[in-house]
Amino acid sequence: MLIVGSGPAGQKAAVQAKRSGARVALIEKTRELGGSCVHRGTIPSKTLRENALRVKNMRLNAALANFELAEDVELATLINRLNDVLLAHDTYMRRQLERNGVEMIHGRARFLSANQMEVTSVKAEKQILESKNIIIASGSYPRHPDNIPIDHEYLFDSDSILSMMYLPKSLTVLGGGVIASEYASIFQALGVKVTMIDKYPRPLGFLDDDLTETFINGFKHMGGTWMGETKIAKAYWNGFDAVVVETENGKQIHSEKLLCAAGRIAHVKELEIANAGLELNQYGLISVDENLRTAVPSIYAAGDVIGPPSLASASMEQGRRAACNAMGVASGVMHNIIPVGIYSIPELSSIGISETKARELHGDVLVGVAKFDEIARGQISGTQDGMLKIVSDPNGEKILGVMIVGEGATELIHIGQMALLANADIDIFVESIFNFPTLAEAYRAAALEIVHQRKKL
Ligand SMILES: Cc1cc2nc3c(=O)[nH]c(=O)nc-3n(C[C@H](O)[C@H](O)[C@H](O)COP(=O)(O)OP(=O)(O)OC[C@H]3O[C@@H](n4cnc5c(N)ncnc54)[C@H](O)[C@@H]3O)c2cc1C
Repeated sequence: MLIVGSGPAGQKAAVQAKRSGARVALIEKTRELGGSCVHRGTIPSKTLRENALRVKNMRLNAALANFELAEDVELATLINRLNDVLLAHDTYMRRQLERNGVEMIHGRARFLSANQMEVTSVKAEKQILESKNIIIASGSYPRHPDNIPIDHEYLFDSDSILSMMYLPKSLTVLGGGVIASEYASIFQALGVKVTMIDKYPRPLGFLDDDLTETFINGFKHMGGTWMGETKIAKAYWNGFDAVVVETENGKQIHSEKLLCAAGRIAHVKELEIANAGLELNQYGLISVDENLRTAVPSIYAAGDVIGPPSLASASMEQGRRAACNAMGVASGVMHNIIPVGIYSIPELSSIGISETKARELHGDVLVGVAKFDEIARGQISGTQDGMLKIVSDPNGEKILGVMIVGEGATELIHIGQMALLANADIDIFVESIFNFPTLAEAYRAAALEIVHQRKKL
């Protein structure tokens, strides 16, 4: 089996294929393993977030610690633990691949045919590899709109933003998706004056309004500015002291730096997929069927290269399944209940369907909400600006979705996930005894609200 890309999808595909009995080569063009997840996306941004939270908390406790962030903070000092985190991760991944007997090839792969690939090493040496099955796990890269000239010095994309030397005084973030919301709130928490601009009325439009409202309020409370329903005419560095964003309704926004987070597209730049008989679909992605098989039966694809949900978590599972399918090994049920974790400040997470979607599909659904400021743990830890919402069917029995905003949301969501996967009734949250005081108790409080409404029906 040949696998292109050592990100979450490629790694898990390689280990699974090997365990299923294939001889496996994993081809990676960069020196490091791990893909954008490890080097440009998930792990660096979450490491910065940890420090942003510390800075935010120290500010909140300024009376105790007399805290002020120094001027001209180098970004590197704010992600000072990143190298340790990356080294530990790299070592772990390398060991896992070695232990499983995966052959690692450092080079750039391109298709010669549906079963043949040419790999060019950094010394320009070429080798031709042939395989019955190939898995494409080459990831994605940021989309650059024509009117935003990304120069990686003043105007950045999400792959380059952390290469800024110093923490800027002001930052404009273009976009309202997950990456935009995460970076906007993280930089705002660090004291950067952030303006977030998007064409939609709210960020994270796939979540219910009450959750995004809590996010916007939290962001504004930290000093951030949200500009919804605003289209960008152009953005440019004025050659002197600022990045200028001109909106279609004639406004100008000046900032020291700009981050453009306008989605990501499949990374097939060098792959020459046409040689294998493949092409990108209208969204610039590789189309696959439910078995992760492409239009060419011997070629599979997994991870960001096939598009949404474009998460490291989902990519790993897709990689594993693609390898199982290629090897004819049963891969278990493919759940389409995938949690979404948004590591903004405050954090957001959801599983199942939103209240808005549930009303569209099922009519008068019942909803239970627990505010963190009504939960003992929320008051004790000062985590009051959060809420947990359970959406149930109109009878108040079946769980349709859970959405959480507030610290701990991305961990807490898994309780709801397990209940959904187990097809449990709302009552499970009432009948279970939760530790006290915990934020998890919010499940019980929200479920009790639904049970209460059910009695009134
Ligand atoms: C800022 C940011 C934050 C994120 N935060 C989260 C998060 O909190 N949680 C989460 O689940 N997800 C997060 N993601 C998404 C996550 O990073 C991706 O979904 C994940 O990395 C996709 O994995 P992949 O294996 O498909 O591709 P990648 O990780 O992109 O790996 C692809 C690999 O293929 C290699 N490659 C490409 N072409 C070739 C070629 N021709 N020859 C050889 N090698 C090649 C590349 O060098 C790369 O190493 C975040 C992403 C970003 C950008």
